[in-house]
Amino acid sequence: MIAYLEHFVHGNDTESIPNDDVLGVEGSFHFGATAGAGKDFGGMKSAKALAVIRPGASADVARAVKAAARKANLTVAARGNGHSINGQAMAENGLVLDMRAMESHFTLLSLHDGSLYVDVSGGALWEEVLKRCVSQFRVAPRSWTDYLGLTVGGTLSNAGVSGQSFRYGPQTSNVTELEVVTGKGETLVCSETQNSELFFATLGGLGQFGIITRARVAVQQAPDMVRWIRVVYSEFEDFTSDAEWLVTLGEGDGFDYVEGFVLVNSDDPCNGWPTVPMGPNQRFNPVRVPSTAGPVLYCLELALHYRNQDHPAAVDMEVDRLLGRLRFVEGLKFCVDVTYMEFLLRVNRVEEDAKANGIWDAPHPWLNLFVSNSHIAEFDREVFKKILIHGVGGPILVYPLLRSKWDSRHSVVVPDSNIFYIIALLRFIPPPPKGPPTQLLVEQNHEIIQLCYNRGFDFKLYLPHYHSQENWMRHYGDKWTRFVERKANFDPLAILAPGQKIFSRIP
Ligand code: FAD
Repeated sequence: MIAYLEHFVHGNDTESIPNDDVLGVEGSFHFGATAGAGKDFGGMKSAKALAVIRPGASADVARAVKAAARKANLTVAARGNGHSINGQAMAENGLVLDMRAMESHFTLLSLHDGSLYVDVSGGALWEEVLKRCVSQFRVAPRSWTDYLGLTVGGTLSNAGVSGQSFRYGPQTSNVTELEVVTGKGETLVCSETQNSELFFATLGGLGQFGIITRARVAVQQAPDMVRWIRVVYSEFEDFTSDAEWLVTLGEGDGFDYVEGFVLVNSDDPCNGWPTVPMGPNQRFNPVRVPSTAGPVLYCLELALHYRNQDHPAAVDMEVDRLLGRLRFVEGLKFCVDVTYMEFLLRVNRVEEDAKANGIWDAPHPWLNLFVSNSHIAEFDREVFKKILIHGVGGPILVYPLLRSKWDSRHSVVVPDSNIFYIIALLRFIPPPPKGPPTQLLVEQNHEIIQLCYNRGFDFKLYLPHYHSQENWMRHYGDKWTRFVERKANFDPLAILAPGQKIFSRIP
């Protein structure tokens, strides 16, 4: 398999250069101007790589890592779809592996106990996995992210969280085997029973221990349809107690998807009431909002799966039974029925709109946190109702997750409490001068993080980003020693994922 190397050069011409000049790797490589490998979705960082490699197979990945090991100070960053915020998939003066170029793998496996899995390549987009699973086999992975233009290897290096995580855990809890190229250039298959330390390290490992070239993902029969529901709350306490009740119901006895978001209690088109209705014929009637409501409201977003053959009355009955227990504001309930694919691809519409008005390509100073349920009420009072009282120009997600669904052997760290909330500030703001300076929004994020420290909240950053190793030590807490040992075992020269800025390359 021939790997393609695209070199960052001043001109746009592609030229063939004997590879020995750069890496001493056998084979022929194409050098040329690269598009975008030095940028990411965050739009706030840039890095000039030495070269971009388009690996065709795991062997190419291994060759690139081994070649980097032979050169002092050369690093390697796997780039999934570059949807990081803070340059995590970049490598200044290093090699960037464009994982999307990898040959696509797709095999359905049925085990003797009836469980189903698909083997997919690390560079596949989740959207591609969904489409192939549903169209070829009418199956689908159980745990998702909200947006599917992300790669399998990219989300498994973090966690992969969405409205199904309360039931099945993050995406990292839904894979049983990986093929990984370690920082030593070895290609290893790993699972809970084979090379288990590498398996646990890699899941949620921020790309520090190996490059995921293949993953075995648990799948189940795909539903046909989804009843997609939003209900609005004026009181945070009602919102959280209903959300927590819903996520603790057993499988088959609740909704299949539970998320929530905060909105501004006003007619602001980006942050307020208009963000709730789901169809062209639905309208948010502000008269329904109680006069006691504060500056922000809360919305639970729920979904129930069903099959075409299910009787509509039975679906209505189940939805009514569950909604009947909730304390949302009467008259502020919105519902639509959509196909399962439409539901999972729902963010694509947002992407199209944002691209059309230029805010998809603008900087995105996003912040993601996990906050313990014991501090979530204070977070609401201090952050949602004060710092973010005017919104963030995009969704502010807040919904509960269960720690029991997270495997503590994986590298990702979460709060100690049994229930914690994911909070995502998904800022979609026009670039300056139309919008505020990006730096101001970054400072607002820091203010929120600092508040969490000052108040002693039990919290962790999700998709973490720090400038100093001291901060990384604080982030991992008592798991730091394990993290360092894993690094020494699997990437002793610290070649991999330099954009995370955790370790420095050892010459
Ligand atoms: P990249 O940004 O390319 O890479 C991320 C990190 O993983 C880098 O350090 C990189 O070196 C490493 N890496 C990439 N590929 C591999 C590989 N094959 N093996 C090992 N390491 C690798 N997250 C959620 O959990 N839930 C969501 O609902 C969600 N929605 C999002 C919506 C949008 C619009 C965006 C921009 C992000 C969202 N995210 C969400 C965050 C997303 O999961 C992470 O940013 C993820 O890293 C992006 O995947 P990527 O393929 O673009 O990875």
